[in-house]
Amino acid sequence: MIRITQVKLPLDHTYEDLKIRTAKLLRIPDQQLREIHIVKQSVDARKREEISYSYVLDVECDREETVIRRCRNRNASIRKDEPYQFPKSGEEALNTPPVVVGSGPCGLFCALMLAVHGYRPLLLERGGPVEERTKKVDRFWKTGELDPECNVQFGEGGAGTFSDGKLNTLVKDPAGRNRKVLEIFTQFGADPSICYVNKPHIGTDELSRIIPAMREEIIRLGGQVEFYSKVTDIVLENGRVSGLTVNGERHIPAQAVVLAIGHSARDTFRMLLSRQVPMDAKAFAVGVRIQHPQEMIDESQYGREAAAILGAASYKLTHTCANGRGVYSFCMCPGGLVVNASSEPGRLAVNGMSYHARDGKNANSALIVTVKPEDFGGDGPLAGVEFQQQLEEKAYEAGGGRIPVQLYGDFVDGRISENFGEVQPAFAGETAFGDMNEILPQEVADSLKEGIASFGQVIPGFDRPDAILAGVESRTSSPVRIHRDEHMESVVKGLFPCGEGAGYAGGITSAAMDGIRAAEELARRYRPFS
Ligand SMILES: Cc1cc2nc3c(=O)[nH]c(=O)nc-3n(C[C@H](O)[C@H](O)[C@H](O)COP(=O)(O)OP(=O)(O)OC[C@H]3O[C@@H](n4cnc5c(N)ncnc54)[C@H](O)[C@@H]3O)c2cc1C
Repeated sequence: MIRITQVKLPLDHTYEDLKIRTAKLLRIPDQQLREIHIVKQSVDARKREEISYSYVLDVECDREETVIRRCRNRNASIRKDEPYQFPKSGEEALNTPPVVVGSGPCGLFCALMLAVHGYRPLLLERGGPVEERTKKVDRFWKTGELDPECNVQFGEGGAGTFSDGKLNTLVKDPAGRNRKVLEIFTQFGADPSICYVNKPHIGTDELSRIIPAMREEIIRLGGQVEFYSKVTDIVLENGRVSGLTVNGERHIPAQAVVLAIGHSARDTFRMLLSRQVPMDAKAFAVGVRIQHPQEMIDESQYGREAAAILGAASYKLTHTCANGRGVYSFCMCPGGLVVNASSEPGRLAVNGMSYHARDGKNANSALIVTVKPEDFGGDGPLAGVEFQQQLEEKAYEAGGGRIPVQLYGDFVDGRISENFGEVQPAFAGETAFGDMNEILPQEVADSLKEGIASFGQVIPGFDRPDAILAGVESRTSSPVRIHRDEHMESVVKGLFPCGEGAGYAGGITSAAMDGIRAAEELARRYRPFS
């Protein structure tokens, strides 16, 4: 197979154009081409008047070595990378099925890989299946009635279900797990283009269809999936896991437990700490979510014409403040909504989501500032959790139980807004005007003001006074890191802390990749459960 990079084509090109261009770059008649596989499609928007696609292609044709030698194209070579390979099974016997706690991307991909390779895992999830969860979340957004066990953070599919479903990750992985994650999403119904577009995304509406299909496959392969089953305790014998307690009453024997509990399982963090499972407080970031008209962003990123072909534009912004703190945009949701992502009564957190079409009127993203253990004002491994809870209580208070919102101009002037301006709100969950200065630590608020002003230099209008802020964005990553060794095992033998909650991933794809790695570690040690 020949791999050829930097194949440039205009945005409105056809597949025929791609074939002709490829044959030209390889100096062969296009009849000699047998197959073209798109490996990567990215947008080159560096020259505004010449926005184009840039492709990486794998090409099958006759006499490939000769073609490479004759075309003298330094962007063309014989492809070398190997497909993903699951390891051979180990020899240790499993007396009970491996247990996976949490059905977010980490737990779901771990359980699926274990099921595919004959381990018949038991997947325990504290929340409900997607279908019931969607109804509960809709009711929460409409009425404020929160189910602390089944909400935007908890339930089948985990935190990522009500999201934009962005799948890009910075995690480099020579083993090919990143691609494996995309292929698995495609196998269960995602658009195949996610395997090659530069910034793949699925959208919450598609995820709600794909996740139950993955669940059904785990069950078809002999696994079990239990909902409304919260792990409330772990049972240890001689420093090793021997069982789990579910919902405070049911005991399940367990020998190998993958903990994929996510960044919001604060009660479970406390339980683990009480059982001396080693963990530390970890830095994360907090801030607000900002909304602008999507058209304004499209215009600034690549003009309305290109946006008509490329879809809603995204942005990535960073700024280092005079006080040394960094402000950056995070989890940008083109054509999306700002959602009430709370999971605890009396505490309020926001996040963002988009549907597959990304055709909402506003663009939104989190604007966040890094906070470290020394900022938490307490000590101990859960000081970050307490810091988050304090911010979320202030947000709940500032909005009277609804999402507190404020126009940027009023935030700068320390005034509660009275009306929205030209930017019309796009929220899931009720809102009320409140003051972000009342919620955020002073230094975070000051950094945000400086950062937004500087972003206005990059994207004209980003610092417009009627841009809409909402708070608090507090669940950006896990506030703890649960210790594990190179085999992903805690000093508590048989316990494998994984994913975002344990502090080893950030985002859907990297969490799923960590879940696949955990399945590999279990497989290397144990033979399939029969
Ligand atoms: C609204 C929103 C939008 C997001 N958008 C994106 C995006 O577009 N792209 C992206 O890459 N990332 C996004 N994220 C982040 C992403 O969702 C997470 O990084 C990812 O889901 C982490 O996966 P995980 O499996 O480690 O944990 P989680 O997805 O948090 O899953 C943990 C699961 O464990 C369950 N659980 C917890 N405690 C227990 C217990 N004691 N017993 C049983 N079950 C338990 C929970 O109910 C949950 O289902 C978003 C997050 C939110 C909240």
